[in-house]
Amino acid sequence: MGKKKERPYKVFKIEKGTVIDHIPAPKGLLVLEVLGKKNDGIVSIGLNFDSQKVGKKDLIKFENKIIDKEETDKIALIAPEATINIIENGEVVEKRSIDVPQEITGFLNCLNPNCVVNRENLQPHFEVVEEGPVKLRCKYCERVWEVKYDMVENKRK
Ligand SMILES: [Zn+2]
Repeated sequence: MGKKKERPYKVFKIEKGTVIDHIPAPKGLLVLEVLGKKNDGIVSIGLNFDSQKVGKKDLIKFENKIIDKEETDKIALIAPEATINIIENGEVVEKRSIDVPQEITGFLNCLNPNCVVNRENLQPHFEVVEEGPVKLRCKYCERVWEVKYDMVENKRK
């Protein structure tokens, strides 16, 4: 191989959109899965950056997308350490704080195959019982889960 070329940029810069930073690695892909990949612009993801705050971190940038409260809550369940910056005209116009919600309905699945929520196709409903890492109790079967990839509804075919 020839000599190392200088990289033109480490991370794609956006004029407008949302930057989700300080996602503890390797949760970046899970956050992306939860938010969905459809976007009216470039979605860039960087994995395994060095971070003083969280050791190794992942980072996601959504060009043109301003995330809403519901999406912020979803991020909070997976990566409460993350920071969210809203960008307009190339500058940070809002640093959004992340609060772990008390409960969450409808986007995560209970992993208990015998849970009534799965047998009768009900709307999943969880209560947050711990915040670091987040643990959720299913309102139906009362089993407690840490948020993981299998619980994300977008995965369901
Ligand atoms: Zn359950």
